Amino acid sequence: MQEKVSIKLLPQEADNNDIIKAYILKALDVKQHELSGFRITKKSIDARSKQPYINLTLQAYINEPFNNYKFEKIIFRDVHHAKNSIIIIGAGPAGLFAALKLIEYGIKPVIIERGKDVRSRRRDLATLNKQGTLNTESNYCFGEGGAGTYSDGKLYTRSNKRGSIQNILNLFAQFGADESILYESHPHIGTNKLPHIITAMRQQIEDCGGKILFQKKLVDFTLNKNKIQSISTADGEKLKADAFILATGHSARDIFILLYEKKIKIEPKPFALGVRIEHPQHIIDSIQYHCSPRDKFLPPAAYSLVNQVNGKGVFSFCMCPGGIIAPASTNNEELVVNGWSPSKRNNPYANSGIVVEVLQRDVINYNGYNQPLNNIPLPLSGIFFQQAIEKKAFIEGGGKFVAPAQRLSDFVNNKVSASLPECSYLPGIATADMRNILPSFIFSTLQQGFKNFGNKMRGYLTNEAVIVATESRTSSPVRIPRNDETFQHPQLDNLYPCGEGAGYAGGIVSAAMDGEKVATAIIQKFLNKSS
Ligand SMILES: Cc1cc2nc3c(=O)[nH]c(=O)nc-3n(C[C@H](O)[C@H](O)[C@H](O)COP(=O)(O)OP(=O)(O)OC[C@H]3O[C@@H](n4cnc5c(N)ncnc54)[C@H](O)[C@@H]3O)c2cc1C
Repeated sequence: MQEKVSIKLLPQEADNNDIIKAYILKALDVKQHELSGFRITKKSIDARSKQPYINLTLQAYINEPFNNYKFEKIIFRDVHHAKNSIIIIGAGPAGLFAALKLIEYGIKPVIIERGKDVRSRRRDLATLNKQGTLNTESNYCFGEGGAGTYSDGKLYTRSNKRGSIQNILNLFAQFGADESILYESHPHIGTNKLPHIITAMRQQIEDCGGKILFQKKLVDFTLNKNKIQSISTADGEKLKADAFILATGHSARDIFILLYEKKIKIEPKPFALGVRIEHPQHIIDSIQYHCSPRDKFLPPAAYSLVNQVNGKGVFSFCMCPGGIIAPASTNNEELVVNGWSPSKRNNPYANSGIVVEVLQRDVINYNGYNQPLNNIPLPLSGIFFQQAIEKKAFIEGGGKFVAPAQRLSDFVNNKVSASLPECSYLPGIATADMRNILPSFIFSTLQQGFKNFGNKMRGYLTNEAVIVATESRTSSPVRIPRNDETFQHPQLDNLYPCGEGAGYAGGIVSAAMDGEKVATAIIQKFLNKSS
């Protein structure tokens, strides 16, 4: 017999299997010899009261052999000689999960990726962090695994499609992620572990007969009626396929421009922009757990904040406990930041994006462009908006990807900081006045938002925290339209826009889910044809 048990434990109790067993015996009123084993199916922290607790949901095995079954492994097919071939542009989560889904059903994917494999990519990140020199084709956004590879690897999403989310988590576990991601309420993998998982995925794709071609950048395509006839890569090759999945992410601005120039429909969409904030981790721990120092059985604390200021949403984004602020630019002379953490989240800082929603009317009303607005095509206006602010940030930082920064209370009180605290951002930070960088509506919404956050989390609004600019690549400012059911572009039968860049995902899990969804539509199309 199997029984579901929910228990609430002190953090140190939740770390001890003998104590958990004792709780199960008591809850189910069974003898020790009757309990053959148990498995955690859900784990979350409840830190609402002064004493934080761990909530566990367990599957207990009573008078039957314990089965430590955790997830169903996917069997991938041999596609070396598959009839159809699909080209996927972009090896981010959307592209990789699309490829794996196609292989599962016997269709051969060829992924082309502008960046390098994870190992070579790591060297380019080191050069950027140490010398402030950016490789525009190999960086925190471009390369094997996409923007998610050198990230915190948070695997939660606002999507509520439980089944699909579980499939994605199962696959991450199948490729080597710690199985705790299957039951943690806020699972994460960590920058140190993600590259191995991505490499294992590539290995699987290649072993089955799929291909991944690095430093192969889509630069053009030719059309034949309502189809893409071939695509051209920067090295001069022309490639043909039965279908093309476009999963190039939100930072591939050249792709949006290419589509626009080829008169392929794209649309502007709302996005968000702001700054990244960094606190000493112990401040966040003491606010969230009501104790200092943190109980050693509790993980570094996270937070999630959201507020409305004069009808504008301001919210935390991609919070990284025990993390590092990273230079996430893809172009020279444009400053973009983001955050990551290692699996143990054991750095002394807690960082998070704090961003303000940006609507089309905000983009149109902005007067900080360095060219007249009527020269800017409407579908690309969000990109120009991001770019104008990223350029100002680069100049204010003084070059070499040094980031402009301000202490938090100083920012809220309109004071330029005389000095700055230690910060995890490796290229360095320089004191600046954020009014010179951020559009006034973002500046004032952030100011009030931080005051409101300080009221919700006492101690959050402090000069020990520092904000750095700019957090500008939160989501795509462009949507590439597609049919709701077939996922084809309305003008081009064999083009499948996919993932975050196309405007259908925000984060690793939702991008991976979208990759699977698009691949499934292609599978249905081709398998129906051949049957
Ligand atoms: C530092 C950092 C930390 C992050 N942390 C998290 C996190 O903890 N949790 C989370 O859920 N999300 C996180 N994100 C966001 C997450 O990485 C993205 O939401 C996700 O990767 C989007 O997946 P995607 O496949 O749609 O696009 P991407 O991951 O952006 O992948 C697109 C790929 O396409 C390639 N490409 C672009 N143009 C071309 C071209 N012309 N030809 C060939 N290839 C091309 C790019 O090189 C890239 O590899 C983070 C992002 C960054 C930068």
